[in-house]
Amino acid sequence: MAQDKQLAWDLYHSYESFREKSLENRRFKYSDIVPLIEQLKNKNIFKVDKVGKSIEGRDLYLISLGSGKTKVFLWSQMHGDEPTATAALFDMFNFFSDDSGSPELKKYLLSNLSISIIPMVNPDGAELFQRRNIVEIDLNRDVVRLQTPEAITLKNVFDSLNADFGFNLHDQGRDYSVGNSSNPASISFLAPSPDYDKSLTVPRENAMKLIGHTTEILNEFIPGHIAKYTDDYEPRAFGDNFTKWGTGVILLESGGWRGDREKQFLRKINYIAILSSLNSIASGFYNKTDLSVYESIPNNEKFMMDFMLRKLKLQKADKEYLIDIGINFEEENIDDARNFYLKASVEDIGDLSVYSGYEELNLSGYIVEPGKTKQEIFHSIQELENIDPVNLFSEGFTNVLLSDCDFSDKHSYFAFNIVLNQSQSPANGIKPDAPANFIIKKDGLVKFAIVNGFLFDINIPENWNGNSIVYDK
Ligand SMILES: [Zn+2]
Repeated sequence: MAQDKQLAWDLYHSYESFREKSLENRRFKYSDIVPLIEQLKNKNIFKVDKVGKSIEGRDLYLISLGSGKTKVFLWSQMHGDEPTATAALFDMFNFFSDDSGSPELKKYLLSNLSISIIPMVNPDGAELFQRRNIVEIDLNRDVVRLQTPEAITLKNVFDSLNADFGFNLHDQGRDYSVGNSSNPASISFLAPSPDYDKSLTVPRENAMKLIGHTTEILNEFIPGHIAKYTDDYEPRAFGDNFTKWGTGVILLESGGWRGDREKQFLRKINYIAILSSLNSIASGFYNKTDLSVYESIPNNEKFMMDFMLRKLKLQKADKEYLIDIGINFEEENIDDARNFYLKASVEDIGDLSVYSGYEELNLSGYIVEPGKTKQEIFHSIQELENIDPVNLFSEGFTNVLLSDCDFSDKHSYFAFNIVLNQSQSPANGIKPDAPANFIIKKDGLVKFAIVNGFLFDINIPENWNGNSIVYDK
């Protein structure tokens, strides 16, 4: 184990030399990875085959390397908006194709393993940055009925390989926590069940041991941030059926990490997790890990919110109530889904002490009120630029009215929200699902504004970046 941990640290320290620099964030598309795959054909360690097509006609690639007797199959992004592992796979291709790093490790892996990889099983969904494929079918519920060409391709390749291990690579929501702790579940694992009885077949036990082994390695880097999914049997899912058909399946889900919305640190952790796992499959060391390690991984729970405002006072009809406000951000696609803006809403209010925020702010002693819409009508962007947000917020307003102005964006870089149609002012309220626009006071003075879930500190207005909403329809 000490050696395996040392290897993981070596991968950690040399990562930057192999990181695929052209994949900068999560919003890359099929057209970004095809040239990278085509380049692999020039390296004789890779075999590149087209094994199917998506509904919109995008070729699905199978990349094979190694000539060992143990067979490993990895596939990523069957959900189009879950790209973290795909990027890590391209980092791994660089590791294998670059002659500079760890020649002995590469030789060892390639002589002991036959590795087969389909990166981005759902390129049509990735194009729109959506979970499902282009006809709105969830590929991970299509392994039995086989209605989609993407699922048929994945199943055909699986059947042709008869792999010992399978890596089912996904992303999960930021709201997952490690048990009821305040840590996001940054990596979640599962060795899926082969049946409703959750039978411990040999392939499943192998997957459990490998997950346990990999968890002990990842604890070097992200201790307390690893969880496992419920093993309830899902008869329509790939992992469960591949387990039933004799492959030890490792479900690996990348969740949230504080300060890493683009998940580039978790991409690096994926790279380490996958290469470390391949190494312990090659050596067989995973087999020495007791099943109890897997069983002791905490469960995936949902106790995370994006931004938590603690211990505010809410005044209603001369009474005061102590509340927390939990805010979540949704990503709204822009620029053909190559980019996004964040739209905040109230997830919950009240005693939220069992939840944790990616960010938290203790506002004990402060009073919260809904942000209001200023009734004066502005007529141009120039007029908006002349508004001093400190004055606006000090009067209790988070939104301004803009009329007779050609403004088509759905978000803005102003400190305040823009309302294009007076009848569409955001709902005034502090309640679940309401937009997160608040004014926060102490001793009768406005101290903070929350505009679209972002904090504006009246005392340090220069810290504002601008993430507001345009209400128009
Ligand atoms: Zn998924």
